[in-house]
Amino acid sequence: MKSHPKFERTLVIIKPDGIQRTLIGEILKRYEQVGLKLVGIKMLIPTADLIEEHYTLDPEWRTVTGLKTIKSYKDKGLTPPHTDPLKITAIILKNLVKYMTKGPVIAMVWEGAHAVAIVRKVTGGTEPLTSPIGTIRGDYVIDSYSMSDTDSRAVRNLVHASGSVKEANDEIDHWFKKGELFDYRHISEAMLYDVDLDGILE
Ligand code: ADP
Ligand code: MG
Repeated sequence: MKSHPKFERTLVIIKPDGIQRTLIGEILKRYEQVGLKLVGIKMLIPTADLIEEHYTLDPEWRTVTGLKTIKSYKDKGLTPPHTDPLKITAIILKNLVKYMTKGPVIAMVWEGAHAVAIVRKVTGGTEPLTSPIGTIRGDYVIDSYSMSDTDSRAVRNLVHASGSVKEANDEIDHWFKKGELFDYRHISEAMLYDVDLDGILE
């Protein structure tokens, strides 16, 4: 039963800038209104270790994120700060730790069919400048790789969202204990998942 697609879970973190910009309600609303279910939530000030471990749970993250940054510079006709992706991510990781430990964050687990992909769609791309209107990162913030690199800081993009089902499972274990997550049903879930829709008429 628990293997049904409707039980997929993903981790979302409202980063310090999301809290400071008073966007908690707006951000929660986006994930809630698409049909996902909140199964865990807490506020905390992360330690440096929690953040560094979070971003390096995936051994490929350093390479992938460095290459993504280089591509984004090249797509805009700009020269990336380094040609070596690992040099780029060494700087990003240091700046991320600084950014994510500056104030309280809200960590959440959202559940539902395709939770990982749906949350990434609602969240938008990493860089707010090129993130489409209608997404959280496209609608509420204006940062870019070039601006954050000029100022030697992390891109401020309001939220973290897991990038794959494997990443989500690892990240949920990293941020939440078993007893902090809840198995429950929304009465309205039948509209999303019930096969026969038998419960509507008296
Ligand atoms: P996402 O959060 O979209 O999954 P990544 O996993 O690639 O993005 O990167 C993690 C976070 O690191 C981003 O959300 C952003 O805050 C920061 N970041 C990524 N690339 C850069 C960069 N080139 N310069 C500054 N900060 C970056
Ligand atoms: Mg990521």
